[in-house]
Amino acid sequence: MPVSDRKESELADRLAEVGRRVGLAMSDALDRIRPAINAVAEVAGRPEVRSVVERAEKLLRHRPCLCFCARAHPDDAGICEPFDAVITRPHSSDLFGEVDVPLCAPCAAARAARDFTG
Ligand SMILES: [Zn+2]
Ligand SMILES: [Zn+2]
Repeated sequence: MPVSDRKESELADRLAEVGRRVGLAMSDALDRIRPAINAVAEVAGRPEVRSVVERAEKLLRHRPCLCFCARAHPDDAGICEPFDAVITRPHSSDLFGEVDVPLCAPCAAARAARDFTG
């Protein structure tokens, strides 16, 4: 066999070997994280975890306060309760016309105070 051919077949062997090792490493890694995956799946079904998930969902169902605090009441921009909108206030915008904007209580109060004082 000429030298160059032998080199090529050596290279092919090496590539095959590397490929085999990578494949092994992959399935090795999968085997290693499989218990973690199972653990997560198992934990997700546990009641205390489910209650956390439910609480998160409840939080997401809350209406967000869509007040533009920095514009509507810049003096009290930090009072907003972003996920606790309790009322809606009509708001006229150039883009949407008259829309009902959900507001949290502190924002509504701050806006009212500003409207009142001008
Ligand atoms: Zn606000
Ligand atoms: Zn707010």
